[in-house]
Amino acid sequence: MTLQIAFDNSYARLPDRFFTRQDPVPVRAPALIKLNAGLAEALGLDPAALATEAGIAMLAGNRVPDGAAPLAQAYAGHQFGGFVPQLGDGRAILLGEVVDRDGRRCDIQLKGAGRTPYSRMGDGRAWLGPVLREYIVSEAMHALGIPTTRALAAVTTGEDVFREARLPGAVLTRVAASHIRVGTFQFFAARRDTEALTALADHVIARHYPEAGNALGLFEAVIAAQSRLVAQWMGVGFIHGVMNTDNMSVAGETIDYGPCAFLDGYHPETVFSSIDVQGRYAYARQADIAAWNLAQFALTLLPLIDPDRDAAVETATAALNAFPERFKSDWLATFRPKIGLASAEDGDAELIHRLLDLMAAERADFTNSFRALAGGRARAQVQDRARFDAWAADWQARLARDPQSPEARRAQMQRANPALIPRNHRVEAAIAAALAGDLAPFERLTGALAKPFADDPAVADLAAPPEPAEEVRQTFC
Ligand code: AMP
Ligand code: MG
Ligand code: MG
Repeated sequence: MTLQIAFDNSYARLPDRFFTRQDPVPVRAPALIKLNAGLAEALGLDPAALATEAGIAMLAGNRVPDGAAPLAQAYAGHQFGGFVPQLGDGRAILLGEVVDRDGRRCDIQLKGAGRTPYSRMGDGRAWLGPVLREYIVSEAMHALGIPTTRALAAVTTGEDVFREARLPGAVLTRVAASHIRVGTFQFFAARRDTEALTALADHVIARHYPEAGNALGLFEAVIAAQSRLVAQWMGVGFIHGVMNTDNMSVAGETIDYGPCAFLDGYHPETVFSSIDVQGRYAYARQADIAAWNLAQFALTLLPLIDPDRDAAVETATAALNAFPERFKSDWLATFRPKIGLASAEDGDAELIHRLLDLMAAERADFTNSFRALAGGRARAQVQDRARFDAWAADWQARLARDPQSPEARRAQMQRANPALIPRNHRVEAAIAAALAGDLAPFERLTGALAKPFADDPAVADLAAPPEPAEEVRQTFC
C-alpha cells in the first residue's frame, strides 16, 4: 500500500503569471464519503492507500503529497456575455498532474479546498450537495461515453459552510485532461500578453492536440471537440446551464457541473438554472453559445494566427464559419443511431426534428421515448397517437432503405439511447438523504448510473420520470 504519486506537473512549469502557488487550507475533521476505486487505479493510485487516514487527509487538503505543486490557476471569462478580466480558481487547488494507465496526462484538483488570491468575496469552500451532484453527474456522463471531468473522491470537512443556510462542507477531487479554459486564453489576451499566449497555445497543442501544429490548427481542433461535445450533450438531453467561457474546456471535456440538468420532458427551450433568467443557455441554444464562445477564443488567438491582423481575422472567421455545418453533421451522427439509422439520407434531419417536435408538443419524456423506439414501445410514450403513427410510417419507410439487420439496429439503438440518466429528482433525493446521514440512495444511484445502457429491472424506478410533485424545475450554482 502506498500513497506515492508519480506527479509530473507541466502546468506548474509555465511562467509564474499563469497561476499563484497556494496550498489547500486544512479542514477540521476530514471523512471519506466516496472513493472512485476504478478511476484511482486507472490513474496509478492505490485505492486502499487513499482510503487510509493519510489518504483522506490528502483528499481533504490537509496533507500535500510528495511531488505535488499546489496552485490556483488564473483565468478570465465571459459570464452571461459580460467580460470579467480576472476570475481564476477561487476555491480549487490543482495538486498536480499524473499520466494514467493509457498514457493520458490528467490534472488532480481539489475543489472546495479553501480561499485563494482569486476568491474575491467567496469563502473558497463547497458544500456537500454540489459535491455529490458533481460526483453523480460527471461519473454518469463518463459512463454515457461523453467527454467529461471525472470525480475521484468526495470527502466532508467537518466544517460548516454558510450559503442560504448552515451546510456541511465538502471537497471534491476532480480529474480532468486539463483545467485550461477559453477563459485562460482570455486572461492573457486581455493583458495583451502575446508571449504568455504563445506559451499557453504551445502547452495546449503539446498536451491535447499534438497533430494541430499551430494556432489555427489548435482553433480548428477545439471547434471540432466542442461541436462534437455539444452534439453529444443534446443526444442525452443534457443542459450545461452555465456555458460561460471560463466553463469551456479547451480539451473538449464537460466541465463545471453547477446548475446543469438533464431533461425529463422534452422541450427545446428548457432552462433549469435559477440565474439564467434570459434562457441564454437553454437546451437548444447550446450550439449557438458554443460558437459564440469559440469566437471569443478566436479573438485571443489572432496574434498567433497571423501577425497581420486583417489576415488573421479572415483566417479565423473562415474556420469559425465552418462550425454550423460541422455541428449539423455531429448532431446527425448523434441522432441518426438514436432512431436506428446506419446510413445517411438528405431528409434525416427533418425526420428526427419531426419526432422531437411531436415530443415537445406534449413534453414527452426525452430519455424514455428514445429508449422505447427500439422496443416498438414509443407510441405508448406519447398522447397524440395519430401524429406519432404518421411519423412512424415515414420512419419505417426510411428504415426499409437502411441496410442494417433488425438485430444490428436494435443493438445500435440500445447503445445510442440510455435507459438511465441522472434524473434531477433522483439526484436531489440522494443529496437530501446524504444530508440526513443516509448515503444508501447516493450509492445506489451512482452504482446504477455506471451501466446506463443496461435494462436492469432492479433499478427500473430510477428510469421513471418524476411524478408532478417530484419534478425539479430549478437548479442552483
Ligand atoms: P463558476 O460559476 O462555478 O464557474 O465560478 C465562477 C468563479 O467564481 C470562479 O472563479 C470560481 O472559482 C469562483 N467561485 C465560485 N464559488 C466560490 C466560492 N465559494 N469561493 C470562492 N470562489 C468561488
Ligand atoms: Mg467555473
Ligand atoms: Mg461552478
